[in-house]
Amino acid sequence: MRERSLAEPVGRAGRGRVACAVAPAVVALAHIGPAVTWLPGLRRRWFPGLAGQGRPDHVALTFDDGPDPVSTPHFLDALGGLGVRATFFVLGENVVRHPELSREMVRRGHELGVHGWRHDRPWLPSPGRDARDLLRAAEAVREVTGRDGPRWYRPSYGVLTSGRWAAARRAGLRPVLWTAWGKDWRRDATPESVRAAVAADLRGGGTVLLHDADHASAPGSWRAALGALPGLVADCRVTGLVVGPLAEHGMTGEDGPRTRR
Ligand SMILES: [Zn+2]
Repeated sequence: MRERSLAEPVGRAGRGRVACAVAPAVVALAHIGPAVTWLPGLRRRWFPGLAGQGRPDHVALTFDDGPDPVSTPHFLDALGGLGVRATFFVLGENVVRHPELSREMVRRGHELGVHGWRHDRPWLPSPGRDARDLLRAAEAVREVTGRDGPRWYRPSYGVLTSGRWAAARRAGLRPVLWTAWGKDWRRDATPESVRAAVAADLRGGGTVLLHDADHASAPGSWRAALGALPGLVADCRVTGLVVGPLAEHGMTGEDGPRTRR
């Protein structure tokens, strides 16, 4: 199954823990129930706002897991060269570690969304911690963005549990997942493979997921995403699609199934 739950990076930090997660699976089932929306085919059809479906002449470019002083500046330079602004879903703990880099992202016209405080796995329900961590992360982003603060939330691993959903509501954030991804977290990812993976699902109004950091991915895998950017942007432009941040994506309507919150 190409598009599945924990398809975002199962990186060096997480592989060893998979076995430990089997025991609480029953608990997790009820808790992750609403996260059925992470099946992209399903969410594109039934939850277009959550999938990040926007105006048909636009593609939202998004990056997760940064900022990282080793990799993120390369993305800022590449995007600057391409004349593209994007949305970066950042981790709160990375923002407070690298506040100047975070501010530089904003200075260059990019938008910051919230990816959580740290890149943890939602195997067990923890609504109190979800709420605390998300508020803390949103506040960290607000401190560097100033004024209005962040608007968007993308849960780590794309798993939008009921607790995370409620936490996002409390923090005033709208959950947004993606419609196309580059599978750039893999050890064997190349610029060509990332460009092809995105192109396979690229449509007007879509939201593309890439990673500007290998925080939860194979070490150095960000280079594949970086190398894919020129081709990926060209693929959009040749079909008349404008690439930009979620703020300009024209998303309207509901952000998900309110009755399930
Ligand atoms: Zn992530």
